[in-house]
Amino acid sequence: MLRLVEQNKDHLTSLDSAIGDADHGVNMLRGFTAVVAAVDKRDADSPGEVLLLTGNTLISTVGGASGPLFGSAFRVAGKSLGKDSDVTPAQLAAALHDALAAIRKLGAASVGDKTMVDALAPATDAFQAAVDDGAGIPVAAKRALHAAEDGAAATIPLQALKGRASYLGPRSVGHQDPGATSTALLFRALVTATEGS
Ligand code: ADP
Ligand code: MG
Repeated sequence: MLRLVEQNKDHLTSLDSAIGDADHGVNMLRGFTAVVAAVDKRDADSPGEVLLLTGNTLISTVGGASGPLFGSAFRVAGKSLGKDSDVTPAQLAAALHDALAAIRKLGAASVGDKTMVDALAPATDAFQAAVDDGAGIPVAAKRALHAAEDGAAATIPLQALKGRASYLGPRSVGHQDPGATSTALLFRALVTATEGS
């Protein structure tokens, strides 16, 4: 994820400069640099423990709205997975539902409000549908990635109703939401991490 954020930092920042305060790329880079350092330093053994550490680190290092939102999502997903060393597709689907619920509880955004929810909600549904069809995590992650990318692209014509971009009113139309874009990157990281497994 850190590598993807490094590659996309300027892109995320330029999206956030169109409808926000131009800090989303920097926020994500600061957060995931700290996450990699924290994971390297501490022995978080299970996937759930790594996600919990990721969430705690994002909350403590990212100042923008996205820090507490992504941070809570990772924390809740980590708690949902617990300490099991093996994660089943169904467990990961449940963790995604829990993460989405955490973001919606904290940010009160619905699909269509032009936020990260517009990428995470369809991605969670696509992951669940793939699992229901009997897919393993790598295939479900790919379907979720495509849904997240489509969801992020679908934010372009929307007017922002939550977060800093909503202050722009109709002027937020015509730009892709930064947080939905980084949500798609998170699913790209999941695909890369699970490829070949
Ligand atoms: P800030 O808006 O504080 O500068 P960032 O630039 O890091 O924080 O993150 C902005 C992103 O956060 C937006 O693109 C949007 O996806 C997401 N966001 C903002 N407010 C909310 C909310 N209430 N619910 C869900 N996501 C939100
Ligand atoms: Mg910002």
